[in-house]
Amino acid sequence: MASVGGNLLQRTRCSYFYDVVQPCNKRVPNSGCPAIDGYNRMHSILGASSKCITAHPSDMCVALAALDAVVHTTEPSGDRKIVLVDFHKLPGNTPEIETVLLPDELICSVELPPSTFAKNWCYLKVRDRASYAFALVSAATCLEIENGQIKSATIALGGIAPKPWRAVEAEKLLVGKAPSEQTFKAAADAALENAKGYEHNNFKIEMSRRTVVRALKVAAGGVA
Ligand SMILES: Cc1cc2nc3c(=O)[nH]c(=O)nc-3n(C[C@H](O)[C@H](O)[C@H](O)COP(=O)(O)OP(=O)(O)OC[C@H]3O[C@@H](n4cnc5c(N)ncnc54)[C@H](O)[C@@H]3O)c2cc1C
Ligand code: SF4
Repeated sequence: MASVGGNLLQRTRCSYFYDVVQPCNKRVPNSGCPAIDGYNRMHSILGASSKCITAHPSDMCVALAALDAVVHTTEPSGDRKIVLVDFHKLPGNTPEIETVLLPDELICSVELPPSTFAKNWCYLKVRDRASYAFALVSAATCLEIENGQIKSATIALGGIAPKPWRAVEAEKLLVGKAPSEQTFKAAADAALENAKGYEHNNFKIEMSRRTVVRALKVAAGGVA
């Protein structure tokens, strides 16, 4: 159905997860992760663990993370609100548990709080083909610019971590600065500071830096 709830809960595209003759800690806990020493081109460079290095595939969730979205749910004991950045879990030692949703809990709606950056935003998706392809790297950037200075900033990255990834340190670095290529490069460096590549996806580190810089430039330029 390509529903909003389904998009939030879509599962990994890791080929080992779908190949049932392969071990996979996410499919069969404690069976191993062949992606770590295998073909890991699409996998994570941030937030991975020694149990699982898969990347979250969604585009929509990356934009929702940048927009500070709130997921409204219901379960037999009541309703609750979950901030989107807390909705997905990092793999840690339990990669089979992907979200904080309980087994009998339903997503009812997703709330987008009022935003302060009507004109200064960008969603940039870098992929192998022009259409019908998941992100190698994506970036959602939102800037609130007042009197030539960045008053607030949000940056979320996709395709490079097991959950939509907010680049909090990079966001902090932008606040109070004038939008410039130099500032954007410093923010991109901060966003990727702890990145760790694997044999086939090392290129994603520099690609992510460039994606962040370009998405910030487009956001700063403003949309009509
Ligand atoms: C070839 C292909 C390319 C794609 N490309 C992209 C892409 O580039 N970017 C992108 O973001 N996505 C992409 N998708 C994902 C797609 O857009 C869907 O969001 C995704 O496949 C989930 O499908 P669905 O929405 O139909 O959910 P379903 O498959 O119906 O549901 C997924 C899971 O969520 C559960 N669920 C659904 N709704 C709720 C709810 N309200 N509460 C609790 N649980 C619920 C279901 O029980 C199921 O377990 C792609 C998918 C395919 C197959
Ligand atoms: S990266 Fe995760 S999903 Fe892929 S094989 Fe390893 S444990 Fe399984």
